[in-house]
Amino acid sequence: MNFMANLPPTEELQKLDAAHHLHPFTDTKQLNEKGARIITRADGVYLYDSEGNRLLDGMAGLWCVNVGYGRKEILEAAMRQMEQLPYYNTFFQTSHPPVIALSEKLASIAPDHINHVFYANSGSEANDTVVRMVRHYWASMGKPDKKVIIARKNGYHGSTVAAASLGGMTGMHAQGGLPIPDITHIDQPYWYGEGGDMDPAEFGLMRARLLEAEIDRIGEDKVAAFIAEPIQGAGGVVIPPDSYWPEIQRICDEREILLIADEVICGFGRTGNWFGTDTYGIKPDLMPIAKGLSSGYLPIAGVLVSDRVAEGFIENAGEFAHGYTYSGHPVSCAAALANLEIIENEHLIDGVRDRAAPYLAEKWAQLADHPLIGEARTKGLVGALELTPDKAARAPFAASKGTAGLICREHCFNNGLVMRHVGDTMIISPPLIITNSEIDELVGKAEKCLDLALAELKDRGLYK
Ligand SMILES: *Cc1c(COP(=O)(O)O)cnc(C)c1O
Repeated sequence: MNFMANLPPTEELQKLDAAHHLHPFTDTKQLNEKGARIITRADGVYLYDSEGNRLLDGMAGLWCVNVGYGRKEILEAAMRQMEQLPYYNTFFQTSHPPVIALSEKLASIAPDHINHVFYANSGSEANDTVVRMVRHYWASMGKPDKKVIIARKNGYHGSTVAAASLGGMTGMHAQGGLPIPDITHIDQPYWYGEGGDMDPAEFGLMRARLLEAEIDRIGEDKVAAFIAEPIQGAGGVVIPPDSYWPEIQRICDEREILLIADEVICGFGRTGNWFGTDTYGIKPDLMPIAKGLSSGYLPIAGVLVSDRVAEGFIENAGEFAHGYTYSGHPVSCAAALANLEIIENEHLIDGVRDRAAPYLAEKWAQLADHPLIGEARTKGLVGALELTPDKAARAPFAASKGTAGLICREHCFNNGLVMRHVGDTMIISPPLIITNSEIDELVGKAEKCLDLALAELKDRGLYK
């Protein structure tokens, strides 16, 4: 069936989707009862569905479409590369121009002490690479016992066996017998949800020092690394108190462990700098990257490797028995290069830092006055709204977690806004190209949907 030439009616598409397609992170039975929304095209910050509805994409796809939809430069770069060399591997002591150019480019935008990259196709694969690389690194350095990776509860690092193990999502661990051995999790710097009466700065320090305690508990000679997202994205846009990262950095400087900053969301401009580590002044040894690297136009990911690790690794590791058929795929590399050129040529990162982020911060903060909102926070172009029936107590709803969030998300989708929920936290991560008037539209729609959600919660007796 050639859908492109003549799109069948929505109902027929939904029926076929239900009949043959298993969706990620989806209750298939529940989805099939209502039918999937069919997205057919997109432009700028807007998505269009098969019914002709226009939605403002407050999530930039899945945190990835940083340069917005419909960028011809990326399409043309990919097409040119497809003609020239659609595929070749990088295993056989071979390389190709796009992967060489992209590697040089990444080294130039990464922090000064980072000049190497290993390629993967997704953030999950990048984090699988991280697990194998740090363990093999320490073994190569004569310290094979340094295997344990400390991660955080409610962190997200992807969905493969290793990446989901690094992640701290209990719901994911419950399926498939995770985590794998030698991965442990410490508490997250989530002040709104877990800080109680503590001052945020004091809470941030306390949570950072859990790393020190965990290293001592396990024994420094057994710990390989600590991994964390500069800002936890999928966990609900958990923006750490300013005291958190400097303390983590101090601990990592004092101890012989590697610091891994998962930049899959924060990378490529999201926080108003190239990387989240620039924003927070962190000096990581490894940085997994994906999403914004190609703005999602084609799958590509990687692990950026610091000079310290690269030098030891290159000198001592021998053959690293790891890699993917599509590591450094030429067409994906060409698309990523074109994407990075757009970010540079259009000064999108300056735009986030100097215009969009301050504007969003100001407008978003006004939503804190809404009766349903316990906290409204942003950093760069990520934001969160905490839904609560009781602002003063930051109380949860008398319903299973996520009930209120889902109600709110449904109103958003039905009113032209993609805003996601994580539990009862609403989150946004719009394309970096979003204009001030589009931010006005986003915040206006969010407010309207909060009103609708509040009315429904009152009807259901969940808000008094
Ligand atoms: C999305 C994400 C990943 C996983 O990336 P995939 O491409 O979905 O495998 C890893 N880390 C973080 C921080 C992410 O947000």
